[in-house]
Amino acid sequence: MNRSSNSVLVIDGSRIFRNYLSTHLSALGFKVFVCQDLAETKQTLEVRTDFVFVVSCYHLLDAEDGEVIDLLLENNLKVVVLTAKFEQETRQEFLKKGVLDYILKDSLSSVQYVIPFAKRIKNNQFHHALVVDDSAMMRRTICQLLESQYIRTIQACNGEEALQQLTNNPHISLIISDNYMPEMTGLEMIREIRRHSIHDDISILGLSGSDDKTMTAQYLKAGANDFLHKPFNQEELFCRVNQLLNMQEATKELFKLANQDALTGLWNRRYLFDTIGKNVADRCIAMLDIDFFKKVNDNYGHDGGDAALTHISGMLKAFFGDQIVARFGGEEFCIHYRGEFEKFCKQLERMRRCIEADHVEHQGQVIKYTISIGATSMEGTLGEQIKVADMRLYKAKESGRNQLINS
Ligand code: GH3
Ligand code: MG
Ligand code: MG
Repeated sequence: MNRSSNSVLVIDGSRIFRNYLSTHLSALGFKVFVCQDLAETKQTLEVRTDFVFVVSCYHLLDAEDGEVIDLLLENNLKVVVLTAKFEQETRQEFLKKGVLDYILKDSLSSVQYVIPFAKRIKNNQFHHALVVDDSAMMRRTICQLLESQYIRTIQACNGEEALQQLTNNPHISLIISDNYMPEMTGLEMIREIRRHSIHDDISILGLSGSDDKTMTAQYLKAGANDFLHKPFNQEELFCRVNQLLNMQEATKELFKLANQDALTGLWNRRYLFDTIGKNVADRCIAMLDIDFFKKVNDNYGHDGGDAALTHISGMLKAFFGDQIVARFGGEEFCIHYRGEFEKFCKQLERMRRCIEADHVEHQGQVIKYTISIGATSMEGTLGEQIKVADMRLYKAKESGRNQLINS
């Protein structure tokens, strides 16, 4: 398995198909190599075999009967086959041989399927699946299938062990679980997992060989995202897993769009109040604001102002990367800090001095700016703390700007 490479190989006799796939796969960030026939493929494989996957036509001018597929599989490559014929037999034959997937090549639009597939393969490398089943054979089969698509796997043989694995491996993003297992069933395990909101974004696929018609509903009610009856075929498993992961990623993206500031990538006000604000335990708050920012815009244009905003967000990430920093509005920022107030103030003061000494280069011009800060460690709701920090910020402005007021 090659996780470090980002090369893919496209083998097809038609230049239109090759160009189409090259363009789209390159746009996804893959380095694309192309071959038009078996002879060229042999030459390429002599030089390199570190392809994330290969998209190959079954019929080539110099290899009519899928010889190229055998060659690729002999080289342990992951292959998506483009085929003109769709017969049950061919399909079974491909999958048995170990190809990743097959695509009916009846038009250019059918080849479009390769693109979401490639996206999935690329993103799969960031996913970790926990496979829970008391049958070692079943665990191994599922793990091999997932690994063949670059999803990393961890195993557990019952619900209780799975909960332990989940604690030990916070990166787990997908759970595939059987129901009937000793110690703790899949349903009990899922209910336990869903009791904790930190696991909300984990996708769960329930499996069962039981004839019980209510199984699907039981799984979904317990908190699973989908259900698959055993025995299943590999295509069905992949379709479900892909759908779950696509949805999980789309939800994450939506969360980011709703909670992050587009210009600076910092959190926004909504995130601070909705996600972080409810946690009242000991925290300090600082509000900070760029001094005379209007003048930056007036002197260097709105782009210059944006460059300064990007610059200050870089500073905030550098000084408070392990804390929560939000862009509150125009040139106003809020730092949510967990720790000692004295340490916090020292770090704020260091950042203020650093910004004062630094400058932003924008279109050949040098932009300098300073910031004013108000900080508090008083107890209270987030809203109350922000109000006090804001009053101190106002005081800092009144007292000549470019300073921190913390009492
Ligand atoms: P003070 O020292 O009192 O804070 O003065 P100021 O000029 O920084 O404050 P004021 O609040 O009067 O002006 C803020 C300006 O920030 C006005 C607005 O046009 C500008 N601004 C708000 N959002 C953006 C943005 O996203 N990009 C740019 N370039 N400017 C912005
Ligand atoms: Mg300002
Ligand atoms: Mg302002």
